[in-house]
Amino acid sequence: MQTLSFERGLRLVVEALRSLEEQSELHGNTELLHRIEQLKEPLPPRFSVANPERERSRSIMEPGTEPEKRLRRASNGAEDFEKLRLTVTACTKCPHLAASRHTVVFGVGNPQADLMFVGEAPGADEDMQGEPFVGRAGELLTRIIQTMGFKRSDVFIANVLKCRPNMPAGVSGNRPPTPEEMETCLPYLRRQIELIEPKIMVALGAVAMRGLFGKTEPMKQMRGRWHSFGSIPVMPTYHPSYLLRSQAISEKRRVWEDMLLVLERLGLPISEKQRNYFVVR
Ligand code: URA
Repeated sequence: MQTLSFERGLRLVVEALRSLEEQSELHGNTELLHRIEQLKEPLPPRFSVANPERERSRSIMEPGTEPEKRLRRASNGAEDFEKLRLTVTACTKCPHLAASRHTVVFGVGNPQADLMFVGEAPGADEDMQGEPFVGRAGELLTRIIQTMGFKRSDVFIANVLKCRPNMPAGVSGNRPPTPEEMETCLPYLRRQIELIEPKIMVALGAVAMRGLFGKTEPMKQMRGRWHSFGSIPVMPTYHPSYLLRSQAISEKRRVWEDMLLVLERLGLPISEKQRNYFVVR
């Protein structure tokens, strides 16, 4: 039997379902459905089941099997995610931000990521490019992500606020989002989190913590400890912009210690080299 890739299998399922919708009977698609019937997908760790051998031997099309549920969730999830993206990019709930923005910065990365980073709001670079964390702070965040052993595309990166906070005409720089702006935008972030279902989130900076939890404590007191957003553990840490301003090795080490806690909680191996970053001997 020819083995199909999971993606190709998914496409074939979608085609088959479309054609079933259009026709009252199978008309010539029996072979296609038979091939889908034969498709087996190894279970990813995230979907571990009590009896993996038995699950593997069942057909992917059998309702209730893990691959079938995963398939259904993936296609429903992708559709819902796209719907959300379209809603957010057309948002005008904050008329002053809708009038001043170049783009809505929805978020970037893997919509099924285990790890999600949440920042405060797009700056000028992000507003122009439509992607979060692409300026200097973004370059630093990308380095942190890579040092953790991920690619930017493995994780999901979003902000509490999806539009750049507007500035008075002729004034450059960025301002933090207001509590009202964050409250208005928070349902979009909540929905992103609901759809992505990350295992862990990292809140970048005190403003992100204020947006997510309404907490106003200094970051010094919040970082290094787990917080919970519903059932999702959240590690707050200093914003990369703060690291760029401070330059102190001790602060870099603190952020790195927070990231080591994240890696540990994700159950990922940590090398000796990774453990010793920014340790001053
Ligand atoms: N700072 C943020 O908090 N978010 C961005 O996207 C860029 C800078």
